[in-house]
Formats: sequence, structure tokens, C-alpha cells
Amino acid sequence: MSQNGRLAVRFLCLGFLLLLAPWAQAALSVVTTTTDLKSLVEAVGGNRVSVVSLAPAGSDAEDYAPRPQDLDRLRDARIIVRVGLDYDLWLDRMLRQTGNPALMRGGAGHVDSSYAIVLLEVKGAGLSDGGHSHGAGNPHYWLDPANAEIITGNIAEALVRLDPANAKHYEQRRIDFLTRLEQRIRLWQTQLAPLAGKPLLTYHNNWPYFARRFRLNFVGTIEPRSGVAPSPAALSVLIRRMRDEQVSFIVRHPQDPARDVDFLARKAGARVAILAASVGDLPQAKDYFSLFDTNVAALTAAYSESKP
Ligand SMILES: [Zn+2]
Repeated sequence: MSQNGRLAVRFLCLGFLLLLAPWAQAALSVVTTTTDLKSLVEAVGGNRVSVVSLAPAGSDAEDYAPRPQDLDRLRDARIIVRVGLDYDLWLDRMLRQTGNPALMRGGAGHVDSSYAIVLLEVKGAGLSDGGHSHGAGNPHYWLDPANAEIITGNIAEALVRLDPANAKHYEQRRIDFLTRLEQRIRLWQTQLAPLAGKPLLTYHNNWPYFARRFRLNFVGTIEPRSGVAPSPAALSVLIRRMRDEQVSFIVRHPQDPARDVDFLARKAGARVAILAASVGDLPQAKDYFSLFDTNVAALTAAYSESKP
């Protein structure tokens, strides 16, 4: 290449960088504990935010063991968005390690998404609810898509607080997202209407919010406590119940062990539906919208197979 040619390339590169610079500077660095919250931050923030989830897609965020690079990510963040309750307690130690007061609870960059959510299964301290033992309420509240209004409200508030210049952008994107979501919720309700009230069983107790929104009737949880497999005696009780109450399908998420679920399904002649409890649990569940699309499709498929 001639000297002039090289110069021209250099100028082109410089121009390109200058074009990108305002965006690069404007992108607010956000860290979330889960992929669901990452998807919701992206829905509100668009190209003004750069988001990473500490727990990667397909991991069990409820029982996540942070890696060394997670601490680096948190150190670079201006906002941390968490599920709260007993779900991501592993974050607290990391926050102390960063020593950044803005990210700590009560700091300008700390978003507890559960704020203002109407919680289900709130029990006294120490009581087990068949899945979560601390009694703060069932933490799987993002699985009611209508709760996204509150979650994105909590997120938008923090984005506006730390980046007021883009307040209009965040508010408009949130409104657009919620409008699309509302239409989709109506569609999901129609698709799940035939399943209303039909008894089903779950491995882990992550569906109470989803069930309330879509009128599904979960009659029991297979694991007696979060992360604990059922005893053989408990399994035979479940088989009897499944036969008595005509439970025709069981749901689990990909991280739940298949063995007990398949055994029960075989014994009671039930179908199994594998659902995504979080964005990325299944390849089709790419974002918050397709998480519900995936689950609605899996449930209706299992239901139509289970009909005699
Ligand atoms: Zn759980």
C-alpha cells in the first residue's frame, strides 16, 4: 500500500472511532445477577446500556458460585440489578468485596427488583414452603410477565438516576416494551386457557406466579426442599396422589434431575414438559418474550399429548 493509501486508512479508522465514541461513552455499565434481569435491562436501556449477567445462561442462579471474573465485572459496574429475597444471597459477599458504597443496598446503583412486588408464599422465618426455606416469599416473581411492569419500573428509576440525560429514551422504551408485553400476555392467556385448573406437578417450586397469572393448578412439588431429592416413600405418596387427582403432566426445568420426574411419569402415565425457568435455560428462550413463548408452547404440547 502506498503512503497515501495508508494515511487514508488511518483517517477512515479515526473517523469511525469518533463516530462510535459518543455511544461508547454513553453506554452505562450494568451487571445483573440473572439472565432474566439482563433481558429486562436491555429492553429498557437499548443501546445506552451494556449489560452482563453474573449467573450465565443455563446455570442455576439460585445456587450460583461466583467466579473470580465476576468480581471484576462488578467492580466496573455502575448499577447492579438483583432478584433479591433469598434468591441471590451470594451477591452480598461480592458487594462487600468491591467496597463500592454506590452498589451496596441503599446505594444509588443498587436495584432490588423485588421492591414493590406482591409476594406469594410469605411465611414465618424458618418454615419451609416446599422449595424455599427462609420465608421471605417465593422469589420466582419474574415468571408472572405482568410483574415486568414493576421490575422495569425499578430498573428505569435507577437508569434515569444515573444517566438523567437519557431519561426520555429509557421511559419511552419501557412504555413500548410494556405495550408489546400486554398484547403478548393476552395471547398467552388464550393459548393456556384449555389448561386452566388441570392438575399438574412440578419438580422445583418456581411456578406460583406463572400459575396465578395463567390459572394453572400446581397440586404439588416433587422436591421436599430446594435442592433435596424426594425419598422413595415420598415418591410412592406422589404416585398415589397423581392417580387420585388425575395429574396428567409434570414440569421440570433442564437443571432439575430427570430421574425422579421420569419415574413418576412412567408410574402414573403422565407426560413431562421441560420449561425454562430463566432466559437461556432452553435455546429457544433467548429473551424475556421468548421465555414465555417457549413455556406456553411446551405446556400446550404436553397437554395435547396427555389427553386420553
Ligand atoms: Zn426456587
